Amino acid sequence: MSEQDLGFDTKQIHAGAVADPATGARQVPIYQSTAFVFRDADHAAALFNLQEVGYIYSRLTNPTVGALGDRIAQLEGGAGAVCCSSGHAAQLMALFPLMEPGRNVVVSTRLYGGSVTQFTHTIKRFGWDATFVDFDDLDAVKAAINEDTRAIFCETIANPGGYVTDLEAIAAIANAAQVPLIVDNTTATPYLCNPIQYGATLVTHSLTKYLTGNGTVTGGAVVDSGTFDWSAAGKFPSLTEPEPAYHGLKFQETFGPAAFTFHSIAVGLRDLGMTMNPQGAHYTLMGIESLSLRMQKHVANAEKISAWLEGHDAVSSVTYAGLDSSPYKARAQKLCPKGAGALFTVQLKGGYESCVKFVNSLELFSHVANLGDARSLVIHPASTTHRQLTDEQKIAAGAAPDSVRLSIGIEEADDLMADLDQALKAAS
Ligand SMILES: *Cc1c(COP(=O)(O)O)cnc(C)c1O
Repeated sequence: MSEQDLGFDTKQIHAGAVADPATGARQVPIYQSTAFVFRDADHAAALFNLQEVGYIYSRLTNPTVGALGDRIAQLEGGAGAVCCSSGHAAQLMALFPLMEPGRNVVVSTRLYGGSVTQFTHTIKRFGWDATFVDFDDLDAVKAAINEDTRAIFCETIANPGGYVTDLEAIAAIANAAQVPLIVDNTTATPYLCNPIQYGATLVTHSLTKYLTGNGTVTGGAVVDSGTFDWSAAGKFPSLTEPEPAYHGLKFQETFGPAAFTFHSIAVGLRDLGMTMNPQGAHYTLMGIESLSLRMQKHVANAEKISAWLEGHDAVSSVTYAGLDSSPYKARAQKLCPKGAGALFTVQLKGGYESCVKFVNSLELFSHVANLGDARSLVIHPASTTHRQLTDEQKIAAGAAPDSVRLSIGIEEADDLMADLDQALKAAS
């Protein structure tokens, strides 16, 4: 039976995991080891030259972390994946092989607040630049691309929720410009959407969220589709030209569809060092085993609660893309037919003050800067995650002062609604 033919629920348990060759252990062991013994000097030399694949040192590769990468690659339908220390690390790792000083990335205005900050300020220190565009304005996306553009970046279901990117349309623009489309698929998860099917070249994840699913791990991953021809436009020398640190090896020529993943390990992790630890990878592997079941409950709860909130006296609107009132409903049904996720914002008639009281009055919902946990979470983006943004950026990102973000968990929907109801009454 080919692994590619297996269904999602089977892959989320078996992909990347073989019985441990040393002991037969059924669960993927936590290889809590920094270094791995070479058979002899020739073996060591072959590993260092990338002539043989194996384990040297856990900053580069580790069997537990590798099993997680394989599992995520298979769930996304990619050729390979590299895990790293956080979702933000994954975003830098995705850009690193593509960019050089003077190059730019065209980015959606609707992004996780931390990503807006990373792209606005921090990447400039590398001499990289980001151009923010409304991704519903396809002409503006095309116009933003210039000869220095090396990637396009967006989220499937954009944090803080409710906005769905037209991935096929954006992928067509990226293709025509011969640059890769990078999609942050954190809030949709591979269960609800596989961006590669819609033309994404690279998919990034914050494993911190739904994939681990219980708020215990900080991790990230970059999945490569393996389908982009890095040499076609001559724009990606790191992947096509001789690499001085490996005796002139050319990644695309040597590794074909695995070029990006090998580069990410052999150069990215080696020199940037944003490595995931084996203990964290173990928790995430266990989390992924129940991903489909959790997402079904997350979606069912979000559908029920968003519809109920929409009819609530204290509420002016709800942004969930699964609702008939959402302008993104049709897009969500096409890209995420199993549901539009479980993250959305609710706008309160009482404005900023009401939002603060509402958040303070909730009991079951935890007030935290996180999402995608089994437990329900709440945050007021304007005063927290999106605080660093200008007012204009806040509104573009869906984080207006009257908006509260809910990450609906997998508890009983009725209990969550009772908690929301008492807090809305207290707030209005
Ligand atoms: C949390 C998050 C990130 C950043 O991930 P970390 O693991 O916190 O670094 C990126 N994108 C989205 C959509 C997120 O929700």
